[in-house]
Amino acid sequence: MPRAAAPLTRQAEDYLKAIHALERVGAAAGTSDIAARLGIAAASVSGMLRRLARLGLVSVERYKGARLTPTGRAEALLLIRRHRVIETYLVERLGFVGDEVHEEAERLEHAASDALIARMADALGHPTLDPHGAPIPAARTAAHKAARTSARTAAR
Ligand SMILES: [Zn+2]
Repeated sequence: MPRAAAPLTRQAEDYLKAIHALERVGAAAGTSDIAARLGIAAASVSGMLRRLARLGLVSVERYKGARLTPTGRAEALLLIRRHRVIETYLVERLGFVGDEVHEEAERLEHAASDALIARMADALGHPTLDPHGAPIPAARTAAHKAARTSARTAAR
């Protein structure tokens, strides 16, 4: 039995979301764009990109930036799913309104367990759109779960 995969840090998760938002078909997410999106110094980006590359989550292109690997993209989509399920729950069940819902979800998306997100989605009847009308990515597949585990085990 493999040990439980170590969770990514909040910072690593934020990088994956930033790269997912910035990369385009055929183009890497640029280092300075990643830094600007995360509100950090560009000089600190390359070290984290190397760590994410060792985890099999991104591929780094010298002088260009980074792209998500299929595993990294699945991880980013999982985070986006968490964020949007949480936002939907906060609005529909707890009466949150306006900008406060996004800030709460930014914090909770890193802390919520997969089981909690599954229960929230169940309670909401498996919504496909968040309160802003953005699509909620589907729950991860067994194949994705295996890919995550092997990526983290390989990086150990
Ligand atoms: Zn949001």
